Amino acid sequence: MARITLKNLAHSYLPDPKSDADFALKEMDHVWEDGGAYALLGSSGCGKTTLLNIISGLLKPSQGRVLFGDRDVTAAETAERNIAQVFQFPVVYDTMTVRDNLAFPLRNRRMDAQYIADRVGHVARMIGMEDWLDRKARGLTADAKQKISLGRGMVREDVNAILFDEPLTVIDPHMKWELRTQLKSLHREFGHTMIYVTHDQTEALTFADKVVVMYDGRVVQMGTPEELFETPAHTFVGYFIGSPGMNLLDARIEGRHARIAGGTIDLGAAYGTLAGRTQIGIRPEYTVLTRGEGIPVAIRRVEDVGRHRLVRAEAEGQPVNIVVPEGMPVSDDLTHVSFQPDRINVYADDWRMQGGRV
Ligand code: ATP
Repeated sequence: MARITLKNLAHSYLPDPKSDADFALKEMDHVWEDGGAYALLGSSGCGKTTLLNIISGLLKPSQGRVLFGDRDVTAAETAERNIAQVFQFPVVYDTMTVRDNLAFPLRNRRMDAQYIADRVGHVARMIGMEDWLDRKARGLTADAKQKISLGRGMVREDVNAILFDEPLTVIDPHMKWELRTQLKSLHREFGHTMIYVTHDQTEALTFADKVVVMYDGRVVQMGTPEELFETPAHTFVGYFIGSPGMNLLDARIEGRHARIAGGTIDLGAAYGTLAGRTQIGIRPEYTVLTRGEGIPVAIRRVEDVGRHRLVRAEAEGQPVNIVVPEGMPVSDDLTHVSFQPDRINVYADDWRMQGGRV
């Protein structure tokens, strides 16, 4: 296993890039800890596959270096990097049994037969395929085949990292949850460095210790699921994480107050003079309907989403979503919203600002 370091890394698919916009990956410096479970999350086209391909060696970056531990692998081929990869679609040998499919990477490296038998048995149990070991892979469902691919990715103990590229795409929705949970326990038990690419926030948040959120070729935040929820470093993270995402309201920031259309909000912390477009961000879960406290809103719609209701409102044309607890009536006299001051984030040109003591 290895720590992965990205040094001044950037990539453009153009031969002669001129500006930032020409780079699919903007310059980044990151250290991914040995044994960490990372998810690379972002919408289509943000650069996830480009970054994964640079780490796996399928793509040479146009700038910067990749280190595995202390070794510079920037110019090394994929085969030299000692990594395992699991792709969107299962890669299994149909004519082989499940056992032989799982054993393949170990036999290739001429491991001891007893070790192979033990290890294959162990992995088969973890992926719930121990009763299928003597079956040929041909004829198995796509789910079962993808489980074999996951197992094969996991079978070697000596890999530097395991890279997963949207591995649950072909999996039935009800199985996804089970496989995600299995992957998590496989990580806990085997301790490999894992990088998991997805555009699905639920997959990222349930799998990873650290989620790496990408937007427009940049890593905009690398944090725990809790950090992404509570203190999104960029408005994209606020909007992308959560269902629905964070409320973002244009505001003029004056010390510890935000002036928003229709009222003034106490921020609970002091901010200096901020340049650019300034906004406050507050999760619908921390937004409260009131009878006159806070800023005025017009309620547009109430949606019942099971455990709670979601109120879609507007504050002078800006959308505001409010999570209302089960059982609380949404009556006509609820005309305003207030925000929990310690849950408010302040943004200048989309980046989160740190508040100081009042
Ligand atoms: P998706 O989830 O759709 O796979 P992604 O986040 O993995 O998206 P990338 O595939 O890394 O994003 O693409 C990042 C940017 O680089 C996009 O603008 C894409 O059009 C561009 N790009 C990707 N591959 C190439 C290529 N081989 N040649 C030129 N441009 C490319």
